[in-house]
Amino acid sequence: MLKDCLFCKISEGEVPSYKVYEDEKVFAFKDINPQAPIHIIIIPKKHISGLNTVRQEDERILGCIQIVASKIAEQFHEMKRGFRVIANCGSDGGQTVFHIHYHLLGGRVFGWPPG
Ligand code: AMP
Ligand code: ZN
Repeated sequence: MLKDCLFCKISEGEVPSYKVYEDEKVFAFKDINPQAPIHIIIIPKKHISGLNTVRQEDERILGCIQIVASKIAEQFHEMKRGFRVIANCGSDGGQTVFHIHYHLLGGRVFGWPPG
């Protein structure tokens, strides 16, 4: 856990969130400012600042997160026809919280390219 990291605090329960999934290594909660009818943030409990700092040793946890995204999506009928998973990285990528996270979005049709 990194002191002063919002998402570390959320996964530790120090900051409240609407939890939708938790296991030993992964935590998922509703986004506070949803950009779709369903908008869930999925994080590793381990503090990693972003996709630009991942290491080979993070291979397993990053794989687990994609499996968790799929499992969560299965639980929502709104995502039966599809969903989107996004990881913003760095300031140009639109990252605002520097604990790696994946947005799971569903319940509407998404355009391409993203803004
Ligand atoms: P990003 O811009 O990719 O770094 O995404 C950060 C996301 O975290 C945004 O979608 C925010 O709405 C969301 N967020 C920020 N603070 C909280 C919080 N306390 N609880 C839930 N989601 C949050
Ligand atoms: Zn953190």
